[in-house]
Amino acid sequence: MKYAILADIHANLEALNVCLEATRGVDGYICPGDIVGYGPNPNECVEIIRGLKSKIVAGNHDRVVAGQLDINAFSREAASAAEWTRKIITGINLKYLEELPEYIEDNDFEMVHGSLRDPLEEYISSISEGIPTIELMKKKLCLVGHLHIPLVITKEPKSEYDGWQLADGDVVKTSEFDKTIINVGSVGQPRDMDSRASFGIYDTAAKTIEIRKVVYNISAVQEKMRKSDLPDFLVERLSFGR
Ligand code: ZN
Repeated sequence: MKYAILADIHANLEALNVCLEATRGVDGYICPGDIVGYGPNPNECVEIIRGLKSKIVAGNHDRVVAGQLDINAFSREAASAAEWTRKIITGINLKYLEELPEYIEDNDFEMVHGSLRDPLEEYISSISEGIPTIELMKKKLCLVGHLHIPLVITKEPKSEYDGWQLADGDVVKTSEFDKTIINVGSVGQPRDMDSRASFGIYDTAAKTIEIRKVVYNISAVQEKMRKSDLPDFLVERLSFGR
Protein backbone atom coordinates (compact mmCIF):
# COMPACT_ATOMS: atom_id res chain seq x y z
CA MET A 1 0.00 0.00 0.00
CA LYS A 2 1.12 3.52 -0.74
CA TYR A 3 -0.19 6.31 1.45
CA ALA A 4 0.16 10.06 1.15
CA ILE A 5 0.86 11.63 4.56
CA LEU A 6 -0.64 15.12 4.74
CA ALA A 7 0.09 16.90 8.04
CA ASP A 8 -0.70 20.39 9.34
CA ILE A 9 -2.82 21.44 6.38
CA HIS A 10 -4.03 24.50 8.31
CA ALA A 11 -6.88 25.52 6.03
CA ASN A 12 -4.53 26.16 3.11
CA LEU A 13 -6.62 24.93 0.17
CA GLU A 14 -4.12 25.87 -2.55
CA ALA A 15 -1.34 23.87 -0.86
CA LEU A 16 -3.65 20.92 -0.18
CA ASN A 17 -4.83 20.76 -3.80
CA VAL A 18 -1.27 20.76 -5.15
CA CYS A 19 -0.34 17.94 -2.73
CA LEU A 20 -3.40 15.93 -3.79
CA GLU A 21 -2.46 16.39 -7.43
CA ALA A 22 1.11 15.25 -6.71
CA THR A 23 -0.09 12.14 -4.85
CA ARG A 24 -2.78 11.04 -7.28
CA GLY A 25 -3.02 7.24 -7.51
CA VAL A 26 -2.03 6.48 -3.90
CA ASP A 27 -4.07 3.83 -2.07
CA GLY A 28 -4.97 6.03 0.87
CA TYR A 29 -4.31 9.11 2.98
CA ILE A 30 -2.93 9.64 6.46
CA CYS A 31 -3.38 12.92 8.30
CA PRO A 32 -1.50 13.65 11.56
CA GLY A 33 -3.80 16.52 12.54
CA ASP A 34 -4.38 20.29 12.26
CA ILE A 35 -6.66 20.48 9.24
CA VAL A 36 -7.75 23.95 10.36
CA GLY A 37 -6.29 27.09 11.96
CA TYR A 38 -4.16 29.89 10.44
CA GLY A 39 -5.47 29.63 6.85
CA PRO A 40 -8.50 30.98 4.98
CA ASN A 41 -10.31 27.78 3.82
CA PRO A 42 -11.15 25.59 6.85
CA ASN A 43 -14.48 24.28 5.52
CA GLU A 44 -13.10 23.32 2.11
CA CYS A 45 -10.10 21.54 3.65
CA VAL A 46 -12.21 19.62 6.21
CA GLU A 47 -14.61 18.56 3.46
CA ILE A 48 -11.77 17.25 1.27
CA ILE A 49 -10.15 15.31 4.14
CA ARG A 50 -13.54 13.89 5.21
CA GLY A 51 -14.11 12.74 1.63
CA LEU A 52 -10.74 10.98 1.46
CA LYS A 53 -11.67 8.80 4.46
CA SER A 54 -8.18 9.38 5.81
CA LYS A 55 -6.57 7.68 8.76
CA ILE A 56 -6.53 10.77 10.95
CA VAL A 57 -5.92 12.19 14.43
CA ALA A 58 -6.87 15.57 15.90
CA GLY A 59 -4.36 18.41 16.17
CA ASN A 60 -4.32 21.12 18.83
CA HIS A 61 -5.83 23.65 16.38
CA ASP A 62 -8.66 21.25 15.50
CA ARG A 63 -9.39 20.86 19.22
CA VAL A 64 -9.22 24.61 19.99
CA VAL A 65 -11.63 25.38 17.13
CA ALA A 66 -13.93 22.63 18.44
CA GLY A 67 -13.82 24.26 21.91
CA GLN A 68 -12.21 21.18 23.49
CA LEU A 69 -8.81 22.75 24.25
CA ASP A 70 -8.14 26.08 25.96
CA ILE A 71 -7.50 28.89 23.48
CA ASN A 72 -5.37 30.71 26.09
CA ALA A 73 -2.43 28.41 25.34
CA PHE A 74 -2.25 29.98 21.86
CA SER A 75 -0.23 32.98 20.66
CA ARG A 76 -2.26 36.10 19.89
CA GLU A 77 -2.18 35.39 16.13
CA ALA A 78 -3.10 31.70 16.46
CA ALA A 79 -5.98 32.59 18.81
CA SER A 80 -7.26 35.25 16.45
CA ALA A 81 -7.23 32.77 13.52
CA ALA A 82 -8.96 30.13 15.66
CA GLU A 83 -11.70 32.60 16.63
CA TRP A 84 -12.16 33.55 12.97
CA THR A 85 -12.37 29.84 12.07
CA ARG A 86 -15.01 29.22 14.77
CA LYS A 87 -17.19 31.91 13.21
CA ILE A 88 -17.22 30.37 9.74
CA ILE A 89 -16.94 26.62 10.31
CA THR A 90 -20.14 24.72 9.50
CA GLY A 91 -21.91 22.50 12.04
CA ILE A 92 -21.13 19.29 10.19
CA ASN A 93 -17.43 20.15 9.87
CA LEU A 94 -17.24 21.15 13.54
CA LYS A 95 -18.77 17.82 14.51
CA TYR A 96 -16.18 16.02 12.39
CA LEU A 97 -13.35 17.88 14.19
CA GLU A 98 -14.92 17.17 17.60
CA GLU A 99 -15.03 13.45 16.94
CA LEU A 100 -11.44 13.00 15.71
CA PRO A 101 -9.42 10.63 17.92
CA GLU A 102 -6.20 11.83 19.56
CA TYR A 103 -4.36 8.56 18.90
CA ILE A 104 -4.68 5.76 16.39
CA GLU A 105 -2.93 2.44 16.06
CA ASP A 106 -2.85 0.82 12.63
CA ASN A 107 -1.26 -2.40 11.34
CA ASP A 108 2.15 -0.86 10.70
CA PHE A 109 2.20 2.39 12.65
CA GLU A 110 0.71 4.49 15.41
CA MET A 111 -0.01 8.19 15.17
CA VAL A 112 -0.52 11.31 17.28
CA HIS A 113 -0.30 15.02 16.46
CA GLY A 114 2.23 15.95 19.16
CA SER A 115 3.84 13.11 21.15
CA LEU A 116 2.71 9.87 22.78
CA ARG A 117 3.15 11.59 26.18
CA ASP A 118 1.01 14.54 25.22
CA PRO A 119 -0.88 13.82 21.98
CA LEU A 120 -2.02 17.39 21.34
CA GLU A 121 0.58 19.85 22.57
CA GLU A 122 4.10 18.45 23.00
CA TYR A 123 6.61 19.15 20.22
CA ILE A 124 9.20 16.59 19.15
CA SER A 125 12.01 18.69 17.70
CA SER A 126 15.12 16.86 18.96
CA ILE A 127 16.42 13.42 19.91
CA SER A 128 15.92 14.11 23.62
CA GLU A 129 12.32 15.17 23.02
CA GLY A 130 11.75 11.99 20.98
CA ILE A 131 13.04 9.49 23.56
CA PRO A 132 9.95 9.52 25.86
CA THR A 133 7.75 8.77 22.83
CA ILE A 134 10.10 6.02 21.60
CA GLU A 135 9.85 4.42 25.05
CA LEU A 136 6.04 4.42 24.83
CA MET A 137 5.84 3.13 21.24
CA LYS A 138 3.98 -0.14 20.62
CA LYS A 139 4.76 -0.20 16.89
CA LYS A 140 8.05 0.26 15.05
CA LEU A 141 6.80 3.50 13.46
CA CYS A 142 5.12 6.54 15.01
CA LEU A 143 3.86 9.37 12.80
CA VAL A 144 3.61 12.85 14.29
CA GLY A 145 2.89 16.42 13.14
CA HIS A 146 2.75 19.74 15.05
CA LEU A 147 6.35 20.95 14.47
CA HIS A 148 5.89 21.83 10.76
CA ILE A 149 9.49 20.68 10.07
CA PRO A 150 10.24 17.32 8.42
CA LEU A 151 12.45 15.20 10.64
CA VAL A 152 13.15 11.69 11.84
CA ILE A 153 14.16 10.34 15.26
CA THR A 154 15.40 6.74 15.36
CA LYS A 155 16.47 4.08 17.83
CA GLU A 156 18.80 1.42 16.53
CA PRO A 157 18.78 -2.17 17.80
CA LYS A 158 21.85 -1.44 19.98
CA SER A 159 19.85 1.28 21.75
CA GLU A 160 21.53 4.15 19.96
CA TYR A 161 19.35 7.15 19.27
CA ASP A 162 19.75 9.43 16.27
CA GLY A 163 17.77 12.19 14.58
CA TRP A 164 18.05 14.54 11.65
CA GLN A 165 16.04 17.00 9.60
CA LEU A 166 14.69 15.80 6.24
CA ALA A 167 14.66 17.59 2.87
CA ASP A 168 12.85 17.15 -0.45
CA GLY A 169 13.52 13.67 -1.88
CA ASP A 170 14.96 12.18 1.34
CA VAL A 171 13.86 8.60 1.94
CA VAL A 172 13.79 6.96 5.38
CA LYS A 173 13.93 3.17 5.39
CA THR A 174 12.16 2.31 8.62
CA SER A 175 13.26 -1.36 8.57
CA GLU A 176 16.81 -0.20 9.36
CA PHE A 177 15.74 0.90 12.82
CA ASP A 178 14.16 -0.62 15.86
CA LYS A 179 11.90 2.43 16.32
CA THR A 180 11.27 5.42 14.07
CA ILE A 181 9.39 8.68 14.67
CA ILE A 182 8.68 10.66 11.50
CA ASN A 183 7.32 14.13 10.91
CA VAL A 184 6.76 14.79 7.18
CA GLY A 185 6.51 18.58 7.62
CA SER A 186 3.51 20.80 6.93
CA VAL A 187 1.27 21.08 3.88
CA GLY A 188 -0.14 24.48 4.73
CA GLN A 189 2.40 26.36 6.85
CA PRO A 190 5.97 24.98 6.53
CA ARG A 191 8.55 26.25 9.06
CA ASP A 192 11.80 24.79 7.71
CA MET A 193 12.70 27.90 5.68
CA ASP A 194 11.33 26.19 2.55
CA SER A 195 8.01 27.76 1.54
CA ARG A 196 6.90 24.76 -0.53
CA ALA A 197 4.12 22.48 0.71
CA SER A 198 5.62 19.39 2.35
CA PHE A 199 4.18 15.86 2.49
CA GLY A 200 5.26 12.23 2.72
CA ILE A 201 4.79 9.08 0.64
CA TYR A 202 4.64 5.98 2.81
CA ASP A 203 5.21 2.65 1.06
CA THR A 204 4.20 -0.07 3.52
CA ALA A 205 5.71 -2.92 1.44
CA ALA A 206 9.12 -1.26 0.98
CA LYS A 207 8.89 0.20 4.54
CA THR A 208 9.97 3.59 3.28
CA ILE A 209 8.77 7.16 3.77
CA GLU A 210 9.85 9.74 1.22
CA ILE A 211 9.64 13.50 1.83
CA ARG A 212 8.30 15.54 -1.06
CA LYS A 213 7.92 19.30 -1.54
CA VAL A 214 5.73 21.07 -4.08
CA VAL A 215 5.35 24.69 -5.13
CA TYR A 216 1.88 26.21 -4.76
CA ASN A 217 0.29 29.62 -5.31
CA ILE A 218 1.24 31.32 -2.03
CA SER A 219 0.09 34.80 -3.08
CA ALA A 220 -3.45 33.54 -3.80
CA VAL A 221 -3.68 32.23 -0.22
CA GLN A 222 -2.20 35.45 1.18
CA GLU A 223 -4.75 37.54 -0.69
CA LYS A 224 -7.62 35.52 0.76
CA MET A 225 -6.08 35.80 4.25
CA ARG A 226 -5.84 39.60 3.95
CA LYS A 227 -9.45 39.84 2.76
CA SER A 228 -10.49 37.75 5.78
CA ASP A 229 -8.49 40.02 8.14
CA LEU A 230 -6.31 37.16 9.32
CA PRO A 231 -3.17 38.43 11.15
CA ASP A 232 -0.38 39.89 8.96
CA PHE A 233 2.24 37.77 10.71
CA LEU A 234 0.46 34.61 9.54
CA VAL A 235 0.15 36.01 6.01
CA GLU A 236 3.83 36.97 5.73
CA ARG A 237 5.36 33.81 7.13
CA LEU A 238 4.01 31.69 4.25
CA SER A 239 6.40 33.50 1.86
CA PHE A 240 9.42 32.38 3.85
CA GLY A 241 8.36 29.00 5.21
CA ARG A 242 9.06 29.99 8.78
ZN1 ZN B 1 0.07 22.73 13.18
